[in-house]
Amino acid sequence: MNQPKDEILIAGEDYPRTYREFVSMFPDDKSCTTFLVKLRWKDGFVCPKCKTPSTPWQQTHGRLVCPYCRHQTTVTTGTIFDKTRTPLTTWLEAAWHITTAKNGMSAKTIEQTLGISYRVAWTMLQRFRVAMVRTEREMLSGTVEIDETLVGGIDEGGKRGRGSQKSIVVIAIELHHPKGYGRIRMRFIPDASGDSLIGFIRDTVESGSSIHTDGWSGYSELESFGYEHQKTVVSSSADQAHVSMPGVHRIAALLKRWILGTHQGSFSQEHLQAYLEEFTFRFNRRLSKSRGLVFRRLLEQAVCTSPVTEKDVTYGYNWKK
Ligand SMILES: [Zn+2]
Repeated sequence: MNQPKDEILIAGEDYPRTYREFVSMFPDDKSCTTFLVKLRWKDGFVCPKCKTPSTPWQQTHGRLVCPYCRHQTTVTTGTIFDKTRTPLTTWLEAAWHITTAKNGMSAKTIEQTLGISYRVAWTMLQRFRVAMVRTEREMLSGTVEIDETLVGGIDEGGKRGRGSQKSIVVIAIELHHPKGYGRIRMRFIPDASGDSLIGFIRDTVESGSSIHTDGWSGYSELESFGYEHQKTVVSSSADQAHVSMPGVHRIAALLKRWILGTHQGSFSQEHLQAYLEEFTFRFNRRLSKSRGLVFRRLLEQAVCTSPVTEKDVTYGYNWKK
């Protein structure tokens, strides 16, 4: 057997701590490939064809060759990077900016920062957002506050946003005792009916959890699905709502500020869920010790998330699949 010229070092887990470290870690596509191989095959590379564990040979164009059966594969096959013509160095740089900038980056800002086309920037961002949702599989539990909010359309100041009409978003947030917040989940729903609200809750909150809501009838069947239900009937005064649903109110305010700030208030309804997933990913990692860890986490998900089609990127991803 030939001596492999380009062995991939399966070293200990590592990630860049600073932008300077990022730049020196990923000078070319080969270093990006090596990093992604480590993330994709954590227990070592296994040939997808003959299933033999080995150290593959790394060839040009990111090709990995099984030393036993000579089957060729790439680290990007079957992942969100599948069939991309964008270099991995560009993908990783986008991932770095998305995860380390405090509020992320719009496709427009990625376009300008990386000197690429808007279309490529938008495609990378949308595919990363699909990978983000895969990190949020664990159900919320304990005490969870839930309420709906409206985003987009004409805001309270009467200024017209670029989004056409207002969209209903239901927000769930874990409440810690005696204070503080845990994780969140959000979903864009077509209406505030019991079906939409309870469907969301059953998908995202563990049965047996204690759920705080207002007096809206859409929540009235919660107990029959195994939840403890604490209802606070709010008066019509807007101030009262802040007091009784402080967690959801805070998230709704941050979400709206993010859409207005980072995204200049512009989003189309078919992509709203993608924005919500990105906001959730970032919020749920707000206490992470290192942004570099969040960067690695996103890439870890990216290599085990199935390909995202052009149709998904353009017309909106089917989040139910
Ligand atoms: Zn093989």
